[in-house]
Amino acid sequence: MTAVTTDPTSGGSRSMNDAHRVLVLNSGSSSVKYQLLDMRDRSRLATGLVERIGESSSRLVHTPLKGGEPRERAGRIADHEEALRAAAEELAADGLGLDSPELAAIGHRVVHGGLKFSEPTVITDEVLKEIERLVPVAPLHNPANITGIRTAQALRPDLPQVAVFDTAFHTTMPEHAARYAIDVETADAHRIRRYGFHGTSHAYVSRRTAELLGRPVAELNMIVLHLGNGASASAVAGGRCVETSMGLTPLEGLVMGTRSGDVDPAVTFHLKRVAGMSTDEIDTLLNKRSGLVGLCGDNDMREIRRRVDEGDERAALAFDIYIHRLKKYVGAYSAVLGRVDAVVFTAGVGENSAPVREAALAGLEGFGLAVDADRNAVRSGEPRLISPEDARVAVAVVPTDEELEIAGQTFELVHN
Ligand code: ADP
Repeated sequence: MTAVTTDPTSGGSRSMNDAHRVLVLNSGSSSVKYQLLDMRDRSRLATGLVERIGESSSRLVHTPLKGGEPRERAGRIADHEEALRAAAEELAADGLGLDSPELAAIGHRVVHGGLKFSEPTVITDEVLKEIERLVPVAPLHNPANITGIRTAQALRPDLPQVAVFDTAFHTTMPEHAARYAIDVETADAHRIRRYGFHGTSHAYVSRRTAELLGRPVAELNMIVLHLGNGASASAVAGGRCVETSMGLTPLEGLVMGTRSGDVDPAVTFHLKRVAGMSTDEIDTLLNKRSGLVGLCGDNDMREIRRRVDEGDERAALAFDIYIHRLKKYVGAYSAVLGRVDAVVFTAGVGENSAPVREAALAGLEGFGLAVDADRNAVRSGEPRLISPEDARVAVAVVPTDEELEIAGQTFELVHN
């Protein structure tokens, strides 16, 4: 693309190639997270978070990363438009205004791209309509993403806006992994299938792992364990996702901070018929009051480990259920892949919790999997190996960076 924009600072015109900044927006139902990146060296210029949008206790925290202290604004921020305008003002105060000709594009995290979007996509009216058509399968996420896109378009109508989909990396899953074994006509009529989420993270981490191992991603089979508050596993063969643990929604799969992960679907009928719960109540139970928080009252792994170390039995059982599920997925994905070259831990828990990493792979020596205690104990923000020197399968910790991946994909799309 060679769009020409006017540069008010020089009075002349410059090509899109001079624009090197990307703003990444992650719009949730009541929050907006933003990061401004300089793609010349992939560094961050500023990050921010607006939370509790629409409430009287809204808060904006803006952190300039090239000098300057974090700044905070308290007081009601009515909607996403106001949130983004406030973020734009903070950026402008640091000389990083969104009207700058150095801004190349805005990259949006979009949760659900269905089957249509397997690549980052420049947002047109047609693309936005398709994201709207997917609202029934992502009622919590896509509406917020759409609001974020519309607001950003109103602020900079001339600028390319790019959607990077959480589901995109998983569109390579074969049909036998993506389909539920339910009546085909019913499933197709309602677009019921396994889509998978956290794809931006799984894509980034699998590529970074290949770099860490010094081998082409095309040669490697790996299991990526994204363990944050939300958690998902994926099996990646030659850089392509062949299986992942989240399904139609992010509820399926691993035990998470507040989500149950896998349960017999009959649990929901039982809750309706026997416990008299409404569909919305069951939805809230399984998404917000289950997982670690439902099992022991805490969803922060640091707190759970502290309680386990003090002999708290509920916390210990919650930890064991979390680990058991993780181990089942490692076993299942080893079978799906046939040969495993690397198991990779990422996100808040995966990057920071040595006890989770140790317990998840304990007893799997028969699979060639082992964790070296000293290497596992090292705290670092860098990608690193934690398997013993002579291990058959590499075990690695690779910090994820979804914003950098979104910025990279966005920039690549608009820069050529
Ligand atoms: P998300 O993006 O899904 O909200 P993160 O990837 O940031 O989540 O992970 C957040 C979780 O990481 C926290 O809920 C906590 O359980 C875990 N976590 C963060 N730091 C540590 C740590 N030092 N030790 C153990 N767990 C940690």
